[in-house]
Amino acid sequence: MKMNTSIAFLGLGHMGGPMALNLVKAGYTVTGFDLMPAAIDAARASGLAVAETAAQAVAGADVVITMFPTGRHVIDAYSGSAEAPGLLSIAKPGTLFIDSSTIAVDDAKRAHDLAVEAGHLNIDAPVSGGVVGATAGTLAFMVGASVADFALAEPILARMGARIVHCGDPSAGQAAKICNNMILGISMIAVSEAFVLGEKLGLTHQALFDVASTASGQCWALTTNCPVPGPVPTSPANRDYQPGFAGALMAKDLGLALDALESTGVAAELGPIAAQIYRRFADENGAGVDFSGIINDIRMHSDARTAA
Ligand code: NAD
Repeated sequence: MKMNTSIAFLGLGHMGGPMALNLVKAGYTVTGFDLMPAAIDAARASGLAVAETAAQAVAGADVVITMFPTGRHVIDAYSGSAEAPGLLSIAKPGTLFIDSSTIAVDDAKRAHDLAVEAGHLNIDAPVSGGVVGATAGTLAFMVGASVADFALAEPILARMGARIVHCGDPSAGQAAKICNNMILGISMIAVSEAFVLGEKLGLTHQALFDVASTASGQCWALTTNCPVPGPVPTSPANRDYQPGFAGALMAKDLGLALDALESTGVAAELGPIAAQIYRRFADENGAGVDFSGIINDIRMHSDARTAA
């Protein structure tokens, strides 16, 4: 895609707003749109050109990027409704649709089929790196696409991210994202349970960290996002568990992993338990807290059990 490529960016929320701005800074012609007036106003104030309707943003665009909350939003926007025409029917033939929302693998396949049936190209390109990465242009993109479509999208994604991984055919990006986050959700619970057990056994946090971080318990949940304050000064535990990666998003991603485990028939045991633990965490005040705050739940339930 050349630099005079015209891009419609739909979904200007926490992630989409800063991502769209990075494309403007890179020299692309970007028109944004969101259903929420507050998101439109914030985007306009930050210097993004915004359209009055989705149809205005998409008409004439070479590329349509969506950054929505769920798969339902993506499929509804692609297909349209009685009130509003779908993006696929408005876009000019052969438009490249990039969906960067985190959605179910089955929804990504459906979105891809709908786009191709309507005469367009479509890839899934979910991200990790959060709002900090979206703002700094350092996101990691996990891409499901044909080789040809990946080649078209990569220069655009590279303006919003630092690492672009072609994971395989359409929907493979979403598959990689939920598999990775299932590892992360399970490993954070394991690290947190070990710290609480260490506390009960009289071990200091630093002693357990010094051993496990250089032994076989080593993992990202311990060495980067350490759930206790002290050993890793930059981890959210040191700032009262402000995210970071919020509990609501971990609960959502593990819910998507659970759907995929069920539809594929994988005999997983820890994934479903982790999904249940994070759903409860998100429902009980953990939604806006970093997911490493799960350690406080484990401590609280342990204290209740000791007191009983
Ligand atoms: P958000 O709720 O802040 O933004 C989503 C925006 O999409 C909202 O402003 C909403 O009004 C808009 N929207 C919905 N339907 C629309 C439509 N048809 N047309 C135009 N706009 C529409 O969410 P977010 O935090 O930016 O996350 C977006 C996606 O990225 C989610 O799928 C999330 O799971 C994923 N994600 C988020 C983070 C994070 O740290 N926030 C990190 C990685 C991945």
